[in-house]
Amino acid sequence: MGLPTAAYAVQSETSPVAPWSFERRDPGANDVLIEILYCGVCHTDIHFVRGEWGNSIYPMVPGHEIVGKVTQVGSAVTKWSAGDTVGVGCFVDSCRTCSACLAGEEQYCEPGATFTYNGQEKNGSGITYGGYSTQIVVDENYVVRVPESLPLDAAAPLLCAGITTYSPLHHFGVKEGMRVGIVGLGGLGHMGVKFAKAMGAHVTVLSHSSNKESDALRLGADAFIATHDPEVFNTHAGTFDFLLDTVSAAHDVNAYLNLLKLDGRMVLVGLPDPTPVAAFPLVFKRRSLSGSLIGGIRETQEMLDFCGEKGIVCDIEVIAMSEINEAYERMMKSDVRYRFVIDMATLK
Ligand code: NAP
Ligand code: ZN
Ligand code: ZN
Repeated sequence: MGLPTAAYAVQSETSPVAPWSFERRDPGANDVLIEILYCGVCHTDIHFVRGEWGNSIYPMVPGHEIVGKVTQVGSAVTKWSAGDTVGVGCFVDSCRTCSACLAGEEQYCEPGATFTYNGQEKNGSGITYGGYSTQIVVDENYVVRVPESLPLDAAAPLLCAGITTYSPLHHFGVKEGMRVGIVGLGGLGHMGVKFAKAMGAHVTVLSHSSNKESDALRLGADAFIATHDPEVFNTHAGTFDFLLDTVSAAHDVNAYLNLLKLDGRMVLVGLPDPTPVAAFPLVFKRRSLSGSLIGGIRETQEMLDFCGEKGIVCDIEVIAMSEINEAYERMMKSDVRYRFVIDMATLK
């Protein structure tokens, strides 16, 4: 049977995002049905839509920064009731038995988490379709609560941009007194600034043009470096404890490694492969280079509660579903201040 669902999808790596419809699975005993109110637009959507990672499945309904209201719950659901305001992030299921799942780090599930779109449904029913749609069916254990104090549109990007920056800052112990650099001021980067600041760090934005300096300071950064001038890599060499690299396009990671102090760490969250890494900048100052993928369900809830307490949300520009292709073009030009969020009422 299935639930008829309106959506926007791409049919190939060269086609625009355009109206489409499909059927969601009927909610099972452990599922909740969520009416999607807002969905953020992540740069990962563009990488996937354009087939940049070579693993895209079409038709594709992107979107993994989902906020909505529970409209129906299965007979065995205990955590949610109709009317609850909830979020769904980058994955909707995982094996639940591997060491990563048992540790609450489902994003690193050994057989592989089921991603919200471009993934395979666990029950073998086909491909997963994401948040550029009016409703979604998700197992109750892969849903999080959105604090009532947060505006729903500005909270939606917390489900990916928020957790992806919160998780490494938290995991690697960013705290008061540390000098932290956020590389790239886009959707992820602007949340990195807010979280690093809330954790007490001295925060510098490193951006590839001078255009975003006043925004960076307004968002809470203490300092700004425009990296188009190669001289800044000499002036600031050895001055950072921690760098969070959120850049979506190919760039010289080694130049940034040299900005770290002795024992400093740089974490990559941006995914513009290939990223060649040299040994010298790491070896000579015992620096570390790490990566980090989104965050688990428990940590995503912790991040949302932290945002609720501190009043942290994303800076957004709300768009109609039909404006999505234009939004992608603007993101490709780094012209996003600082996350597009689709108002799903424009699709109904
Ligand atoms: P975004 O909003 O488009 O921001 C990317 C930023 O990268 C831009 O605002 C720009 O900042 C910088 N940039 C873009 N082109 C550049 C260029 N040619 N040279 C130097 N800098 C450039 O993207 P996003 O949604 O934040 O995503 C960023 C990356 O993280 C993407 O690759 C995405 O796939 C990845 N991602 C990873 C995870 C994870 O779990 N690890 C989760 C979500 C997204 P400036 O103008 O300030 O330089
Ligand atoms: Zn994302
Ligand atoms: Zn697992």
